[in-house]
Amino acid sequence: MKRVGTCPICNKGELLEFEDKFQCNFVENNKQLCNFFIYKSYSKKIITPEMLFDLLHNYETKIYSDFVDDKGEKFEAALKIVHGYINYKFGNQIVDNVKCVNCDGEILRTKQGWGCENYFNRKCGMFIYRSYNGTVMTEDIVRLLVTGNYTPFLNFTSKQGINFQAKLFVNDSTFQVQFDYSLGDCPKCSGTVLKMEKFFGCTNYLSDIKCDFIIWPSIFDYNLSFIDVEILLRGDQTDVKSFRWKDKNFEGRLSLDENFKCKVS
Ligand SMILES: [Zn+2]
Ligand SMILES: [Zn+2]
Ligand SMILES: [Zn+2]
Repeated sequence: MKRVGTCPICNKGELLEFEDKFQCNFVENNKQLCNFFIYKSYSKKIITPEMLFDLLHNYETKIYSDFVDDKGEKFEAALKIVHGYINYKFGNQIVDNVKCVNCDGEILRTKQGWGCENYFNRKCGMFIYRSYNGTVMTEDIVRLLVTGNYTPFLNFTSKQGINFQAKLFVNDSTFQVQFDYSLGDCPKCSGTVLKMEKFFGCTNYLSDIKCDFIIWPSIFDYNLSFIDVEILLRGDQTDVKSFRWKDKNFEGRLSLDENFKCKVS
């Protein structure tokens, strides 16, 4: 077996070349005392003699841009020895003031989107793409998603060209970014309120409960936004809006009355 250099962790053993890795051979009293190893490739990038030299002498390599992630996209990183293991080290791509809700890892900018640092060594599934259904993600949106929160309602376009509004969230078991259409809980029956074709209504309309709670999308010529509906469903009052009734303009705040009907006051 070829010896490639002194082990940088124990400084006693030699790294020997095996089929898929370089491994320290330090043994005392028939016990393997150092488990340090370096795989021969990381994310499809083969370790070159220069990289090996840098790891053994400087504990980290230069930055290379031809690592390839699970989805076939290239990414830029160096390799670094941290606590006896090879880790990726990413340059100035770290998004400030946010950590992955799943593993507490840093969030990194990549060409394809934003990924948890541990996504690249397959220990975490958190990855947010640059855009979903034509809507480009911002780092404020990414901060909400990777910390396990819902975004506000955003505008999207379906593959059929139809515009729709939804909140985004990351499914905490599959790490898929998913749409959520719910505006809030029904104040009458605690069902879910959605935007229906002609009004905002309760999903229990079709169940045995036959809940008839609705909010019309327009009142006195004012078109309610999704945010307005969310406020009403929380039992709160909107800020001041402008209305029109029989050629007269007036202002007021929207809220739900005791019969769960939308009123202006
Ligand atoms: Zn060693
Ligand atoms: Zn993570
Ligand atoms: Zn209901």
